[in-house]
Amino acid sequence: VTRNLAQTLTALSHALGPSGCLTDPERMTGYLTDQRQLATGRAAAILRPASVAEVQQAMRIVAGAGLALVPQGGNTGYVGGATPDSGGRQLVMSLERLNRLRAVDEIGMTLAADAGMILADAQAAATSKGLVLPLSLGSQGSCRLGGNLSTNAGGLSVLRHGMARDLVLGIEAVLPDGTLFSDMQRLRKNNAGYDLKQLFIGGEGTLGIITGVVLKLVAQPVVAATAWVALEETGALPRMLADLRRETADLASAFEYISPDALRWWGAAFDDPGLPVGAGGALLIEATSSSALVPLEEMLTACIAGWIETALASDAVVPQSEAQRARLWTLRESIPEAEKIAGGSVKFDISVPVPDIPAFVKAGRALVAAHDPGLRLSVYGHVGDGNVHFNVLVPAGEDRLSASQRIETALAPGLYDLAHGMGGSYTAEYGIGRFRATVLTERADPSRLHLMSGVRQLFDPAGVMNPGAMLPVDFVHAPLAKETAHE
Ligand SMILES: Cc1cc2nc3c(=O)[nH]c(=O)nc-3n(C[C@H](O)[C@H](O)[C@H](O)COP(=O)(O)OP(=O)(O)OC[C@H]3O[C@@H](n4cnc5c(N)ncnc54)[C@H](O)[C@@H]3O)c2cc1C
Repeated sequence: VTRNLAQTLTALSHALGPSGCLTDPERMTGYLTDQRQLATGRAAAILRPASVAEVQQAMRIVAGAGLALVPQGGNTGYVGGATPDSGGRQLVMSLERLNRLRAVDEIGMTLAADAGMILADAQAAATSKGLVLPLSLGSQGSCRLGGNLSTNAGGLSVLRHGMARDLVLGIEAVLPDGTLFSDMQRLRKNNAGYDLKQLFIGGEGTLGIITGVVLKLVAQPVVAATAWVALEETGALPRMLADLRRETADLASAFEYISPDALRWWGAAFDDPGLPVGAGGALLIEATSSSALVPLEEMLTACIAGWIETALASDAVVPQSEAQRARLWTLRESIPEAEKIAGGSVKFDISVPVPDIPAFVKAGRALVAAHDPGLRLSVYGHVGDGNVHFNVLVPAGEDRLSASQRIETALAPGLYDLAHGMGGSYTAEYGIGRFRATVLTERADPSRLHLMSGVRQLFDPAGVMNPGAMLPVDFVHAPLAKETAHE
C-alpha cells in the first residue's frame, strides 16, 4: 500500500512512464479547466495511460492510496464533468493516448476502437470502408469516443440514428478496483441478464473508465437532399417535421431549427449568410439515402412546396454542390462559436415532447422577458429530437461567471419548471457533471436518487470515480420511506 502522495506519484510514474504521468504545472494546465472556462480545478497529476493494462495499474495505485480519478476524453463537455475539484487530491486520467482503432467489420457493419479515439478519426475509419459512424457533433474534431458514451452524446444525427447509446453494441471498462469489465460484443441481440454496459453510457465517469467500444455503423449515403427553409410559422414546427418524415419515407436525417436571434448573433460574429430568413427564423433539413434510386430531392422539394403553399414557409435554398451544402452545415455548427464571440452564453439544454416545442419556446421567451427584458436569447435546436438549446447571452459588460451564476439562480428554476410541466427534461444532451449536480438532487424523485446512489455504491464503494460529478460529494441519500417505495 502506498503511504503518501509523493510515493504514489512515483509509483504512477513507474507504471505509466514519464509521459504517462504529468506533474509539471505548465503541462497540466490544459486539463484543469473546462472548455467553457467556467471552472478550474487542481490535480495531483495528469495520468495518460497508453494501454488498458496501464489503466488498470493506475486505477489500483490511485485507489490504494485513497485518492480519486477524474476521467477525461477531449474535455469538450458542457457541464464540468471532466474538471477536477480544487482540493488537489484528485488525478485527471486522460484517455488521449489510448486511441487506436481495433477493427472495422465491413459486413457486420461495426467498428471497435479504444475509448480515447477522437470521434472524427473514428468517422474517417468508417468512411474509408464505405460506411458511416452516425454520430456527429460540433466538437467531433476533439471529443473522444469514451467521452461521447459517458455523456450519451446526441448531436446532429439523432433524428435518424438516435443518441450515442443507440449506437453501442459493446463496452470494455476498468472498474474502480482495477478489474476489467469486458463486454466487447458485436451482437444486436443478447438478453443474457442485466445489460450492464448501459450503466456506463451516460455514466459521466462515475462507475469506471471506459477503455473500449464497439459501435454500429450504417451504409454510406450516396444521395443527400438538403434545404435551407425560411420559416414563417414557428407554431407549425411539429407538423412540418411529421410532413418531412412522411414525405421522405422516413429518410429525414436532420430537422434543425434556428431562430432569428441565433441567426442575428451568427451574422454579427461572422458575416451576413445571404440566406432567406422568415418571421420564424430558418430550418436546415436533410434527407439521405444509401441508394441512388431514391428520388430524395423531388421528395424534399415537394414537401417544401406544400409548406410554401400553406404559408408555413416563404422561401427555400437547395444547395447545388457539396461545398454549398457544407457551408450550410458549418453555419449551423458554428452557432455556439457565434455565441462565444457575442460574449458567451448561459446554456439551457431543454427537451420536451416534439409537439410541445413551440409552446415551450413561446412561454420560455415570455418568462425571460418578464425576468429581464434586456436579456438576449439565442434559440436553436434539434427539433426532430424534441431538443431546444435555449441560451441566454451574457449581458454586454457583465462578467461571464457572475452572469452565469445570476441567471442560473434566478432564471433556471422557472425554465426547468416549464419543461417539467410539459413532461420534459432540463438536460437533454449535456448531462449533469459538476455544474448541475445539485439540480439533480433537488429535482429527481426519491426512488431515482435512491437507485442512483445505490448503483454508485455498488460499483465504487471507496468513492474513487469522479467524486462530485453527477451527485454532490456530500450527497447521502436517505433510505426510501416505505410509503414512498410503494407509491
Ligand atoms: C462546439 C461544441 C458542440 C457540441 N455539440 C454537442 C452536441 O450536439 N450534442 C452533445 O451531446 N454534446 C455536444 N457537445 C458537448 C460535448 O462535446 C459532448 O458531451 C462530448 O460527448 C464530450 O466528449 P469528450 O471526449 O470531450 O468528454 P469530456 O468532456 O472529456 O468528458 C465528459 C464526461 O465523460 C467522462 N469521461 C470522458 N471519457 C471517459 C471515459 N473513457 N470513461 C469514463 N468516463 C469518461 C468525464 O469524466 C466527464 O464526466 C458539444 C461541445 C462543443 C464544444
